Amino acid sequence: MAEPKALRCVTCGREFPPWSVDYFCPRCGFPAGNLEVLYDRDKPLRRFPDPARFSLWRYGELLPVGEEHAVRLRAGGTPLYPWAQAAEELGLGALWIKDDTLQPTASCKDRGTAVTVAVAKRLGRKALACASTGNAASSLAGFCAAGGVPCYIFVPKNAPAPKIAQLVAFGAFVFRVDGNYDQAFALALAASQEFGWYNRSDGLNPMVVEGNKTVAFEIWEELGDVPEAVVVAVGDGAVIAGVCKGFLELREAGLAPRVPKVFGVQAAGAAAVAHAFARFQRGAPILPAEEPAETLADSIRVGKPADVVKAVKYVAETGGGYVTVSDPELLSAARELARRAGVFAEPSGAAPYAALLRLVREGALGQKDRVVLIITGSGLKDPQGVTRDLPEPPLIRPDLRAVREAVERCA
Ligand SMILES: *Cc1c(COP(=O)(O)O)cnc(C)c1O
Ligand SMILES: [Zn+2]
Repeated sequence: MAEPKALRCVTCGREFPPWSVDYFCPRCGFPAGNLEVLYDRDKPLRRFPDPARFSLWRYGELLPVGEEHAVRLRAGGTPLYPWAQAAEELGLGALWIKDDTLQPTASCKDRGTAVTVAVAKRLGRKALACASTGNAASSLAGFCAAGGVPCYIFVPKNAPAPKIAQLVAFGAFVFRVDGNYDQAFALALAASQEFGWYNRSDGLNPMVVEGNKTVAFEIWEELGDVPEAVVVAVGDGAVIAGVCKGFLELREAGLAPRVPKVFGVQAAGAAAVAHAFARFQRGAPILPAEEPAETLADSIRVGKPADVVKAVKYVAETGGGYVTVSDPELLSAARELARRAGVFAEPSGAAPYAALLRLVREGALGQKDRVVLIITGSGLKDPQGVTRDLPEPPLIRPDLRAVREAVERCA
């Protein structure tokens, strides 16, 4: 475990002693005053111990809390699949799929949750809370169930029933707020302060990014090198902030000589971070970042991104950028990924593949580039989303002749 040196405000740069403040710089407020976790790097790391430990706790030397506080669900240690056929068709040096759907609650959120819940245990917090309708909430509910810790989830009143069902199954206390997501978010924060709960909401709690960064460590370690580019979907910005911070820390620790270009992908109808990045490139302020958000990819349908400052600054530091894709591109990416790579992703999860097709078409990536797509959420979270308007399987008579006729139609 690495004891953090300080928490630093991403806007004014003021530093706070570790654990002296939970969420944001009081001077700058939220989200301008989001915090980043800094460590002391007096001695460079050479390698991580214990290669048999296939979970993110093997990177303890770069994490703010030790495994002794962790709950037993295993986050991290997900597979990295080479996809040579697509690399060749697209004219890339190499292509891999980092399958982060293979986590305890089937999304990338489990990395941030694992570390955040361990921090809560270390700090002696008796309960956790968050506002979310989707993967962050089910992730927190699952880890709290495993840890025997109470969990309070605030969802807007129009949250879809299947997502609430998953939370209830894990035994979370779910409050449906008679209002929109922003109101649920603010209420979860106020209630956390009132009742002493530790709040895991994305973009609010800096420990979430500390867990999210482990995906970068895994990619680097498994490839034995840093790729030229990494592509990942962006909603609030906490996942991409983690991806960038992970690679930047590997370089800072002397483990990797350089960082990959990190590209974020957003839906064209929910592109507040991409637009903030464009403003930043022109020298204009990142905040306020607030826009309407409309896309079928619900996990990245975010109008007021909570971690936008990190998501913009860190991506710029890697030399990467942002791409937006249409809903039809997202759907066809999810289908192609399932059919050709055997990886079933929700539309948000497949977004990096849609972005890759654009980046190649526009000449941003090519023959010299080795690329990793991070697939963030399972298609089983929203199976109808991916298969809508595909034909239903045929109904056949229970005899072989019917099978023969059906097989002939299977071109
Ligand atoms: C949360 C999530 C993202 C984006 O993460 P942010 O931190 O909100 O940017 C992408 N894909 C899936 C499946 C997610 O659940
Ligand atoms: Zn500040």
